Amino acid sequence: MPEDSLLDSALVRLDEAARHINVDADVIEKLKYPRETTKARLMIRMDDGSRKSFLAWRCRYDDTRGPTKGGIRFHPDASADEVEMLAFWMTFKCAVMNLPYGGGKGAVQVDPRKLSKAELERLSRSYMQAFSRIIGPDRDIPAPDVYTNAMIMGWMADEYSQIVGHASPAVITGKPLALGGSVGRGDATARGGYYLVRHLFAELGLKGKLRIAIQGFGNAGQHIASLFAADGHSIVAVSDSGGAVQASGGLSLAALLAAKQENNSVIHTIGKDGHEALSADQLVGVECDVLVPAALENMIRIDNAETIKARVVLELANGPVTHDADEILAKRNVVVLPDILANAGGVTVSYFEWVQNKQGYYWELPEIHEKLRVIMEREGRAIWELASSRDVTVRTAAYVHALSRLAEAIEAHGTQSYFDS
Ligand code: NAD
Repeated sequence: MPEDSLLDSALVRLDEAARHINVDADVIEKLKYPRETTKARLMIRMDDGSRKSFLAWRCRYDDTRGPTKGGIRFHPDASADEVEMLAFWMTFKCAVMNLPYGGGKGAVQVDPRKLSKAELERLSRSYMQAFSRIIGPDRDIPAPDVYTNAMIMGWMADEYSQIVGHASPAVITGKPLALGGSVGRGDATARGGYYLVRHLFAELGLKGKLRIAIQGFGNAGQHIASLFAADGHSIVAVSDSGGAVQASGGLSLAALLAAKQENNSVIHTIGKDGHEALSADQLVGVECDVLVPAALENMIRIDNAETIKARVVLELANGPVTHDADEILAKRNVVVLPDILANAGGVTVSYFEWVQNKQGYYWELPEIHEKLRVIMEREGRAIWELASSRDVTVRTAAYVHALSRLAEAIEAHGTQSYFDS
């Protein structure tokens, strides 16, 4: 029997949501498959004069609610199947937040750490050349993802502007500020998750000062640590790809950030400020109130879900909890705030960036924070109430919430529209 694809495993969430809401079979049929996935082979000149080729994809999963939106990942294990799964998640994430977008995603199969800066720039420009007919400010709007960043988005925006013959900053988000990026994009993912926990604090059964454990100490992990610590909560354990550290009385955030900056791993703080070594595998099982997966997919599985002591899991990473582990956590009354809600602050501020680019008028930081807070609280509250009234998990409620918006849009387009082709 052929193994299930990654997309098949993501579609389990769609089937689950469909059991709790009355949607037309046509809607489910439409959402089961990506609208289009384009593949290209990017050829670039290496610094030593040789040529090398890399596989690349762009998937526009569903554009019923607006132009497709989603990051570009540079990773050696990238595949068409993974891109389609991630684009499916983006479709639901944008609908959860009521952003006027569909879902998309892109990737290049490459280890960018093995490229020089000039090679990386050539690869990024070549991606835009290959996909410029698919991408566009009203068609498909990329952003950074794993191993891509503002600098790469800047090169891609520049390449696109050269192709179309005029400046077109709204074609891509997560750009450097100097090229039309938005203030507040840097910590938006973590900030959205923080606003969500703060808003549902009592409902989540949280009290007083929290103990937080964070898996992954990159962009999302570092910012969530800073936001919680600023409110007086303790960061009791942190891990990264180098290992993990803990201190039951609270880790020194300043020491963690300095170690990450200087030596690129939190393990360099062991033995100082009361920091003790912990195996990376043990991190999910430490005594804490909130566990924040902020690293990779499938980190909480059937083999470690039983060890979790946290009351709440805040999924800043995409897909950190497997379907089997989800069922274990639900039985144990651990509340999982799901990725398509918990980490949607990132795409929400990307949306703000796109709006600002289209208006040519730029907002101040307090305005960004306030607009993000309002949306996180509004959608978080609606999903929480749906979960309570239907007696389903917050994840199922988030999918039901998104599915009802997608269904409404698909039906509103009518049966003869190009969306139905
Ligand atoms: P990042 O590359 O900045 O950080 C990832 C961190 O995870 C690094 O500290 C790395 O050392 C650590 N890590 C890698 N393998 C690990 C392991 N086995 N155990 C523990 N830690 C490990 O990435 P990021 O931007 O912070 O993204 C993290 C997650 O959040 C990803 O799943 C990403 O898709 C998701 N996410 C990020 C954003 C964003 O705006 N940054 C938005 C939405 C979702």
